[in-house]
Amino acid sequence: MSRRVLLLTIIIASALSHTVFGADDPSRPSPSAVADEAFWKSHLLKLRQAYQSLAENKMTAIQQRFDVTYYGIRLSIDPAGLHGGWITGEVTVQGRPIEGTLDTVQFDLSSSLAVDSVKTGTSSLSFQRVADLISIPLPAGGGTSEFAVTIFYQGHPQGSGYGSFSFGSFNNKPMVATLSEPFFARTWWPCKDHPTDKADSVDIYVTIDDDLVVASNGSLVSIIDNGDGTKTTHWHESYPIATYLVSLAIADYYVYSDTLMYQGHTMPIDFFHYGKPDDWIRANNALVREMLTAFSDIFGIYPFIREKYGHAQFGWNGGMEHQTCTSLGGFSEWVIAHELAHQWWGDMVTCGSWHEIWLNEGFASYGEAIWSEHKGGSAAYHSEMNSFEGTWNTSGGRDVLYVDDTTSVDKIFDWKEYRKGAWVLHMLRYTVGDSAFFRILRKYGSAPRQYGTALTADLQQIAEEETGRNLGAFFHQWIYEGGRPDYEYAFFPEATDSGVVTYLFLNQVQQGYKPFQTDVDVRFFFPETTVTVRLIDTLVVQNYILRFADIPDSCVIDPDNWILNSAKQVEYGFRIVNDGLPDAFVSQPYRQQLLAAGGKAPYTWSAVDVSLPIGLSVSASGLLSGTPSEPGVYSIFLRVSDSDQPTHDLSVFSPLTVRLIHGDIDNQPQITLGDLLYLLRYLYKNGATPVDLLQADLNCDGDVNLVDVVVLLNYLYRQGATPCTTTD
Ligand SMILES: [Zn+2]
Repeated sequence: MSRRVLLLTIIIASALSHTVFGADDPSRPSPSAVADEAFWKSHLLKLRQAYQSLAENKMTAIQQRFDVTYYGIRLSIDPAGLHGGWITGEVTVQGRPIEGTLDTVQFDLSSSLAVDSVKTGTSSLSFQRVADLISIPLPAGGGTSEFAVTIFYQGHPQGSGYGSFSFGSFNNKPMVATLSEPFFARTWWPCKDHPTDKADSVDIYVTIDDDLVVASNGSLVSIIDNGDGTKTTHWHESYPIATYLVSLAIADYYVYSDTLMYQGHTMPIDFFHYGKPDDWIRANNALVREMLTAFSDIFGIYPFIREKYGHAQFGWNGGMEHQTCTSLGGFSEWVIAHELAHQWWGDMVTCGSWHEIWLNEGFASYGEAIWSEHKGGSAAYHSEMNSFEGTWNTSGGRDVLYVDDTTSVDKIFDWKEYRKGAWVLHMLRYTVGDSAFFRILRKYGSAPRQYGTALTADLQQIAEEETGRNLGAFFHQWIYEGGRPDYEYAFFPEATDSGVVTYLFLNQVQQGYKPFQTDVDVRFFFPETTVTVRLIDTLVVQNYILRFADIPDSCVIDPDNWILNSAKQVEYGFRIVNDGLPDAFVSQPYRQQLLAAGGKAPYTWSAVDVSLPIGLSVSASGLLSGTPSEPGVYSIFLRVSDSDQPTHDLSVFSPLTVRLIHGDIDNQPQITLGDLLYLLRYLYKNGATPVDLLQADLNCDGDVNLVDVVVLLNYLYRQGATPCTTTD
């Protein structure tokens, strides 16, 4: 789905003044009221209340027990009927129990529609209705395998959400449009209204005035003249389809077609417009064929290639990706690309939960950038992605992609789901590289998700399988957490005897968010050239030491804008460069050069002796060295001064862990065959107990036994893992 901002809605709604919706449709103000702020406020309040009352559908316990395989929807629509439009419906639902036997089936159906009867075959069934749910007890033995029930109902559909069912007029003739996402199919037909249960196929029969054109999903089977001023149009959707993607668009349409030829397939592309479209719209429609080809090349063949693609004009300003038959209120190239990309991402692979709508909207928005890239290459792609940045609010955690409250339709379809969602794919592409990224997309679009549903966890799993990388932090921070890294950075080049050393620090200063873990490009500018390095940034304070042939003039963080971030250059100052000291090991020599930069060399170092592990010392030149004898976690108090007048002084507590490697059983330096023999004698030949029994527990499980022998054997002779270490 694609929404435009309110202001645009107002302008377009005024321009489309021939589109007049029924006055009692709560989602459709009359144009004269559009500019009235008070009207909008109360209108939005009413909408919000309607959303709450229809809060996110959770499947009932009974609904979880069966799988719908087929819907046959027969609607007779009388636009001149009671309350500004009346529908008489007959919906056949076929399904099967997922396990066990069903004694009852339940469907979602708005309480505003009256149910006349329910049948299975020619037998009538009883039914109960509570709120928007109809429960139908099946006859004894009726629910052991396939069931089929037909619900006869009628009424004036109450449009909910973004206008689930709307009556209007164009050209002094009636028009009808549906937009059921996310859970409003129930406002005009009975169904199990949840995206995870797609019917394998759907038939849609619509009987209405014979001067109207009915556009819907799948292939056109027949149009039968009933001889009474009406005709019945039959569409058949032969691919699995979610209930919210079943649609009608009915008007006195001007219809024309194009044809896609792709890999031996010939497929119609149908356009349904309110009158002959302007040249610019025809020009954009003409791009659909190329878009279908480009997306098929990149994402895999158009998912509904045996049927059609098309779009039908409706009165809502934006677009809705109804399967094989998008509904459109605007015809920009970008909304056309967006809705077409949805045919893969949203329709073929549907988000399995409204909490994860970004899997629909982020992917479709990313499709717009893919179309840009197809037309204009990398620069056009980046320009499109850059235009998406910053169009969502980064304050107050609103930019968490995972939708907490799915009872609010506006929260589900927040801009961030589109724009930040697209950015997640953009960042994933940068993180894993182009070839892995497009492999991931293809695999994500393949069975069992193809024609089914998916969750973020599926995408993560595929991405990890395709790259062999743990992408837990990536998905966690961008989907389930808000914010972005706000960087402060500076660099300090220093000419030394061994060449130019450039110190760079990259600090994450964002408030209220944990440090992000991401790769990030840094581009250094030299008089004659530039060099881009890719760094891994995981810490609040992170220092890098880089070696270039020359002294860089300047540098830029994330120059190509691959990662959501802000970056501010600050003074380098005088600073200690070691972020942390590598672990030391008991009885093993340790040598670590402490580094400072940014002041006037040479630097003079010292440490508070009592803070140092026994056996280690710090020289004035900053060499921390020696052989530690006691395990432990130490906090070394270091001081450093530069040679300026007056001097600059720094001090820091630097953590150092000294580990004891188990395995020195014979109390001789090094772990050798002697330790193995000592252990074997102790365990099996009544040999002496090791002086430090802890040393013989090589896997730190609290026991000294055969397992420890195996660990030691593997370590000594089979390049096995190092024995365990402890710090006490
Ligand atoms: Zn969309």
